[in-house]
This record gives sequence, C-alpha cells and structure tokens, in this order.
Amino acid sequence: MAVNHLDNLSQTLLMGPGPSCVPDQVYSALSRYTIGHLDPRFIAIMDEIKKRLQTLMQTENSLTIPISGTGSSGMETCFVNLVEPGDSVLILKNGVFGMRMEDLGTRLGAEVEVVEFEWGTPIHVEKVHACLAKKNYKIVAIVHAETSTGVMNPVAEIGELLKDNEALYLVDTVTSLGGIPVETDNWHVDALYSGTQKCLSCPPGLAPISLSEKAVETIKSRQTKVPNWYLDLTMIINYWAGETRAYHHTAPINMLYGLYVALGIILDEGMENVFARHRQAHNHLVEGLEKLGLSMTVAADSRLPMLNAVNIPEGVDDGQVRTQLLKKHNIEIGAGLGPLAGKIWRVGLMGHTARTENVDRLLTALQDVI
Ligand code: PLP
Repeated sequence: MAVNHLDNLSQTLLMGPGPSCVPDQVYSALSRYTIGHLDPRFIAIMDEIKKRLQTLMQTENSLTIPISGTGSSGMETCFVNLVEPGDSVLILKNGVFGMRMEDLGTRLGAEVEVVEFEWGTPIHVEKVHACLAKKNYKIVAIVHAETSTGVMNPVAEIGELLKDNEALYLVDTVTSLGGIPVETDNWHVDALYSGTQKCLSCPPGLAPISLSEKAVETIKSRQTKVPNWYLDLTMIINYWAGETRAYHHTAPINMLYGLYVALGIILDEGMENVFARHRQAHNHLVEGLEKLGLSMTVAADSRLPMLNAVNIPEGVDDGQVRTQLLKKHNIEIGAGLGPLAGKIWRVGLMGHTARTENVDRLLTALQDVI
C-alpha cells in the first residue's frame, strides 16, 4: 500500500494570511460527482456563480467570472489583457502585493511608475491626486487590502478621483472580498481580481475577476495579441458567456462547486452580517491582545479587520511562538513578509475563521506560549 500522508492531517484553526477555515458544506461540495464541463447542468452552476459574484462585488459587469488559478492568476489576467508594451501604468505601492504588480507591469513592457508609501501606512489620496494632475495614465493600480501589512487602502476615495479620468482603475481585492464591502461600480473600478482562500473560505484555486465595459472595450481595441494564451479573456469569455459555450480549457469543475457553495453561504448569511462579524471578531482580538500587552502595527483608522498585524514584543522568538501555536494548539498564524519579517505576526480573521470563539482560542494559546 502506498503511504497516505492525508491520514495524518488534523483540522488546523487557520488564523494566518490565508487559507482560512473552510465550512463543511464547501468540503462536501468539493466531493460531489464530477460532470462534464459542457454539461448543461454545469453551465447552470457557472451562470449562478457569475450572479453570486456580481452580488458580492456589487457590480453589473457582465464579465464577472472566476479564473482557473489562485489569486495571482487574477492579477495576471487583468494585467496581460489590459496592458500593452509602452503603456503608462501607475502602481500605488505600500506592500508586497503592490510590488508584484510592479514586477508584472514591467515584465509586460509597460512604462511603470511607482509611488511608494511607507509599509504599514495607507496610500495618501492627495499624492495620487497630484500624480493624476501631472500625467495621463492608461492604468492606475492599487491593492485594497494589503495582506503583507494589514493596511486598508482608500480605494473608494481614489475611485472618486478617477471617475472622470481616462485611466482604467485596477484593484486587487484578494483579501478584502467577502470581509469588507467591495463596491466595484460605485467606486468606478474597471478591473478587479480576488482569490478564493481568504474571506470566501473556499480552498485556494480560483480567482474571481470583474471587468467593466470600458475595460472590455480596451481589450477589444488592443494593437497586439494578449501575450498569454491561457488567460486570454477574448477566448475564455466564449466558454463563460453566450448561447453556445466553446471549450477553451477544462474548467476545474469541483473547485467551482466549492466556490458556488461558498458564495451561497455568504449571501445566505447576508453581506452586511458577514462584514459585521469580521469587524466584531477584529475588535475582540484587538481588545484581547492589548490586555496581553501586545500592540497593533497599523493605526486604528486604516486597520483591516481580516488581517491583523501584531508587533512582536522585544525578546520574543517569532518562529518559536508560531511553531508552538501550531504544534501544541493546532493554530496557524502568519509571519511578517519582506521588511516586516521577524517584526510582526499576521493574524487572519478571514471568512469562516472570523468568529469571537476562534479569537478566544488564539488569545488563550498566545498566553500559554509567549
Ligand atoms: N494579492 C493579495 C493582496 C494577496 O494577499 C495574495 C495572496 O496572499 C495575492 C494577491 C496572491 O494570491 P495567491 O497566493 O492566491 O496567488
């Protein structure tokens, strides 16, 4: 008999930067019968996923679909379809995920301009305003919830600046979608991508995206071919929309069952209730950490509820605390990234994980191991 490492798995309380805990209904959806990717019963599930995503993303964009691949495939899809060599792209950067946008834009031959803000602080709207006053950009890109620092960026305010601007507004909502409001249409967002393993509480593997009419027109009027076959929306759309669906690549069928159910769970609970639950768990965590003598990295007015950066106290061994939490208490929290490595812990309260009882479990465990 082949060894089966799966037999050793126990349920971990996932309180890191993602993946988050997955509800049982999603696990059981993943194990339903695989059917054909062009089966009319599957097409009906796809159509409902699109509707559920539109509701959660608060958009009427018809090009609202999940891309096959993790959150990064959503980023790649938006960039490869919208960027052509020589295009001017403004990246608003204050963490690791803004840095990745910069890397990708540069790889695609865009003229990338980066405005960087101190990690752990939000993007300053006035600075963006000044950039827009000086130059016309084809794309302005920002990360809504910077998972590397726990900062919430002012996506709505920057959207207001871009309302009458020619630039396309591209927003990473990998960590924010499903945990705080994402108002795609109200905020004038043209391209948005997310991921399943954060506040949607589905395992990693899909990247919901949404593109406005303006973005779709931009793709249609490209001078050059989309430089990536797998993520070329002009082809993918023929599978996700229209009377007759054309094969592009085999859809990850069971993953889509999982997303279908995960979205249903959020909408059944009610979006406002879900956002309130995240906020409540976050407040409970901050209060509890402060009682333990721990402090938060980010100022209260720009903290994300679903990603909490906590300063590691002087003399406390980062790795040892995280290892003990996992080994002894079966709780995972995240380490700091880049310049914040060794300086912060990242405590995720994402989706199904965002409950005060989970916060209590973590606080008790932290008290034990620190
Ligand atoms: N953007 C943000 C804000 C993220 O937090 C992540 C993942 O942590 C990504 C993009 C990349 O997503 P993935 O790791 O699913 O490819």
